[in-house]
Amino acid sequence: MVVILKHGVNRDKADLVKQQIQKRYPHLTDIKISEGEEIITLQIIGSKERSINPTDIEGIEGVERYIPILDPYKLVSKDFQPYPTIIRVGSGKNAVEIGKEFVVMGGPCSVDENTPEIAQMARDAGVKILRGGADKARTSPYSWQGMGEKGFEKLAEAGQAAGLPVIGEVVDTTRIELASQYCDILQVGMRNMDNYWLLKELSQVDKPVLLKRNNAATFDEWMLAAEYLLLGKDDKGNGQYIGGNPNVILCERGILSFDKPNSRNVADANAVTQCKNKTHLPVVGDPSHATGKRENVVTTGLAYVAAGADGLIVEAHYDPSLAKTDSAQTIDMKQLSYLVKKGEELYNSLRSFI
Ligand code: PEP
Ligand code: MN
Repeated sequence: MVVILKHGVNRDKADLVKQQIQKRYPHLTDIKISEGEEIITLQIIGSKERSINPTDIEGIEGVERYIPILDPYKLVSKDFQPYPTIIRVGSGKNAVEIGKEFVVMGGPCSVDENTPEIAQMARDAGVKILRGGADKARTSPYSWQGMGEKGFEKLAEAGQAAGLPVIGEVVDTTRIELASQYCDILQVGMRNMDNYWLLKELSQVDKPVLLKRNNAATFDEWMLAAEYLLLGKDDKGNGQYIGGNPNVILCERGILSFDKPNSRNVADANAVTQCKNKTHLPVVGDPSHATGKRENVVTTGLAYVAAGADGLIVEAHYDPSLAKTDSAQTIDMKQLSYLVKKGEELYNSLRSFI
């Protein structure tokens, strides 16, 4: 990191700033002071800078600005692990390797009585993992909240009958055990991306986690949320981390739109490319929540694939008008099968190019 001091701060004052930083962070033993022609700067070399909270430094009298040198995340970074993470779910002929093959996760927004039929049709359309929410995180407390435990059971049964592994959302720490009992992949919804205590608990679980990006999160905030999962938890606060879940799938599902009537969110395809450039984790795009509009899902899904996504997660139903939630963004089986086919073609042609 570099700490830039204000114009006019002299060497004696710079020494005081250094002392104040070291008082707060005693492990920063090696802080260098450089006297420039106009201003003085302090430098700290090494990964210890990740322990620093910039506002602690910028709050010190005489400090103009704090500039980090390293990315704030480490374990998710390609610099730490240069080869891609491949996540295996399912077994036998239903085994899927996320990060190695094109994978579409598809199914209804919410699990309901039609889910078993949807599962069979989604499989025939080329879907490799069945999606469906049993516990639903709804904006309004008056809205239907999902089928809960019965929904998890139904999702697992539907997946088993269709020969598909399943992904379901875990909305809270109290639901981890239940969701883990029935799901092959645990989904963290966008509202929970920055629920760090949930992430710490999921860092202890032996199931892959799909981490959705909060629609107001920066790229770095999203990566740091993933870092929580990989790092594990430090209950005693002594720097001894236990657990750590290496099987994390990133999911881009759109960022806040200023034009809600036209797009629920803005699909950030650029962030998908950024994931591929910066991390070793597989990344999928969710064109359903990114657009909010059925007629835009296929093209936006393909845009995510063109940006480098390893797969997609899509809301689909044999009759979208019957979907209990998110009907307007739910595609039918014909659109689903087209998206899987074109997505796969695009994925394969891009992989042979890259
Ligand atoms: C969902 O996948 O149905 C869902 C609720 O997604 P998100 O958390 O992205 O809104
Ligand atoms: Mn939904």
